[in-house]
Amino acid sequence: MDLKIKGKTAMVTGGTKGIGRAIVEAFAAEGANVAFCARNPEEVAQTEKDITAMGVKAKGTVLDVSDAEGLRSWVENTASEFGGIDMAVANVSALAIPDEDANWEASFRVDLMGTVNLVKAVLPHLENSDVKSVVAISSVSGREADFASGPYGTMKTAIIGYMAGVALQVAEKGIRANTVSPGNTYFPGGVWNNIESGNPELYEFAMGLNPTGRMGTAEEQAAGVVFISSPVASRINGANLLIDGALTRGIQF
Ligand code: NAP
Repeated sequence: MDLKIKGKTAMVTGGTKGIGRAIVEAFAAEGANVAFCARNPEEVAQTEKDITAMGVKAKGTVLDVSDAEGLRSWVENTASEFGGIDMAVANVSALAIPDEDANWEASFRVDLMGTVNLVKAVLPHLENSDVKSVVAISSVSGREADFASGPYGTMKTAIIGYMAGVALQVAEKGIRANTVSPGNTYFPGGVWNNIESGNPELYEFAMGLNPTGRMGTAEEQAAGVVFISSPVASRINGANLLIDGALTRGIQF
């Protein structure tokens, strides 16, 4: 299937590792140009080099998405440098699970406001595109109550509600706003790799909830994100796409 995004421009927050990195690579593999951000300068530079080697225009920016003004500047600079923005993905999370004040604050600033501020900044640019897509990454923990209920799960639920509202508000402009909610996603150095060594009981418990007997891969998440961002998904708007291998039991209304 041709996703029709060759030569288009995508923005991805948190593009150097894990699911975000896989999303950046998947956009590039489809011939899309990619602007991404993350905080570690060396990893940003290396990722920019790797993605450029795939034959597309790639630009990495050192940015913490909790810096609202910095996020807005990044969007404006990207629009100028790339000649517009066609697709955007708000991928970053503070991954702050324990019920502590600092984690509520971080989850609000990074997960929720990092998403809201990206969406608000890109919407005017998407109006000038013929793709017009924005996607937020939530989690199964935003869809169902689980061990991550608290700061993480609550902000992930808020993201799903926020994106559904954005979809309704901008649909008449032809802009699509969707959420992708991953289930457990395993990759080297990632959260589940760390839990596997640091908290084997939780790892075994979480693994046991997966009816497929495994966790997902970052590439499986990225495939859904790039598809739903593309014009091929033109009628999918306001959706919450669960990519979890039937992990969640609740029927989605
Ligand atoms: P990850 O491995 O921790 O990667 C996060 C990426 O975001 C890195 O590139 C990181 O680079 C960057 N980042 C982190 N904080 C940032 C900040 N404040 N500002 C800018 N960049 C930042 O995370 P992941 O597991 O791939 O998760 C990606 C998304 O999927 C998150 O929204 C997460 O909640 C969701 N999700 C993940 C799973 C899972 O099992 N992994 C399951 C459900 C949902 P720097 O550290 O250099 O900034």
